[in-house]
Amino acid sequence: MALRFFNTYSREIEEFEPRHPSARPIKMYTCGPTVYSRAHIGNFRAYIFEDVLQRHLELRGYKVHRVMNITDVEDKTIRGAREASVPLQKFTEQFKDAFFEDARTLRIKRADEYPVATDQHYIDRMIEMISALISKGLAYQADDKSVYFRINKFPDYGKLAHFDLTQLQSTGRVKHDEYDKEHVGDFALWKAWDEADGDVKWNSPWGPGRPGWHIECSAMSMTLLGDQIDIHCGGVDNIFPHHEAEIAQSEGVTGKKFVRYWLHCAHLLVDGQKMAKSLGNFYTVPDVLAKGYTGRELRYALLRVHYRVPLNFTWEGMNEARESLGRIDEWLARLREVAEKANTERPTPNAQRPGTAFEDALDDDLNISAALGFLFESIRETNRAIDQNEMDSASACAWLDWWKRINTVLDLEAETNVAIPHEVTQLAEERENARRQKNWKRSDELRERISALGWEVRDTRDGPKLTRGAGSA
Ligand code: AMP
Ligand code: ZN
Repeated sequence: MALRFFNTYSREIEEFEPRHPSARPIKMYTCGPTVYSRAHIGNFRAYIFEDVLQRHLELRGYKVHRVMNITDVEDKTIRGAREASVPLQKFTEQFKDAFFEDARTLRIKRADEYPVATDQHYIDRMIEMISALISKGLAYQADDKSVYFRINKFPDYGKLAHFDLTQLQSTGRVKHDEYDKEHVGDFALWKAWDEADGDVKWNSPWGPGRPGWHIECSAMSMTLLGDQIDIHCGGVDNIFPHHEAEIAQSEGVTGKKFVRYWLHCAHLLVDGQKMAKSLGNFYTVPDVLAKGYTGRELRYALLRVHYRVPLNFTWEGMNEARESLGRIDEWLARLREVAEKANTERPTPNAQRPGTAFEDALDDDLNISAALGFLFESIRETNRAIDQNEMDSASACAWLDWWKRINTVLDLEAETNVAIPHEVTQLAEERENARRQKNWKRSDELRERISALGWEVRDTRDGPKLTRGAGSA
């Protein structure tokens, strides 16, 4: 089955045809964090969706060249640095580090490049692009000395967000006090320096100032990936004005189609509302870890719902994630036991073997819910086969190989080197003693205590085995 994605630009599911079907990598740009505070798990929903997308493309044999920018200069980073009385660079550094740490915790594959907007190389590129837009009549310097994009001169403006220019109102990301603009929707390409910017400024043909947020992404994408790219992603809140503006700027300069496929993920919600810094309803990765959950559990909780469906974040959902992973761990442990021992008593050549339903579901606009549905159905069936001694070692190996393959997308396997806490091993030993004495009540009590610590004890022919499992956090 061919890959198909929902393209925000056309609002249709389209067959994926990269610009270069040959061995050349797919060019993918993903809008990264604004480093003025620690990213919240809503932001990470977007990054995990992009991670799954890249990994699935790779599973299907594509090479991917992915760029994720770091927005380190805009209103919020400047304000934060000023309030903390530290230089901008020093202020943003801590949040950049925190972002990489959290991304590692969530097993997000590293992008090939992480350009930062304050790099002089990119500032020069932004200035070049703005000059080109001015010379084409697509931008102008206003009385406040800032330079704006003239949206009336770009006929395609509004095509991504699917709205009519005449209905354009000022939105959250558009400053309300800009009276110098020709049109309320004209957005800043270059912001003239003002006192609040302190020493954050660069020289330009229009006087000292700093770039607008949108031009940063256009310039970094075009510098690293060229004038035309295959895939551009972000959360749905990026569609307007950010991505709409990126199209206007990039296509305004080159006259070529900037992006073939625009993919946006729906929001992570809390009580039905978008998780956002401004609403104060957010959790960070360390907040979730502090409640006793692992990065793997959070990864699962954030990826298990189709990326275009809003996902409500709850602690119950985190417990469900833990439970589901416990089932996977237990299943893998059972398969490994069967795989290790040749099933001499009863070869079962007709044992069920894995098919391609998982990958096929992901081909269909990354339908992760269907893919995971197939995984758990397979777990149920293979467990039943093992119970009935109808799984031979070759089939168990085939299922383990299959898991290895789909896990290149999921990346959900338990860390093999997760240390089992001392308390847990002690309880497991006590339980084993209780079992030897046939004290089943005590044994059950101890199993529950182990489970409450987030571990599962399983009795195998080789003795009790401990795995991370369901339990209260
Ligand atoms: P920002 O740092 O605000 O520019 O956001 C970084 C990325 O996170 C962007 O792709 C946003 O669209 C995305 N994002 C922000 N809030 C959420 C949320 N609650 N759910 C999903 N994605 C989000
Ligand atoms: Zn961007």
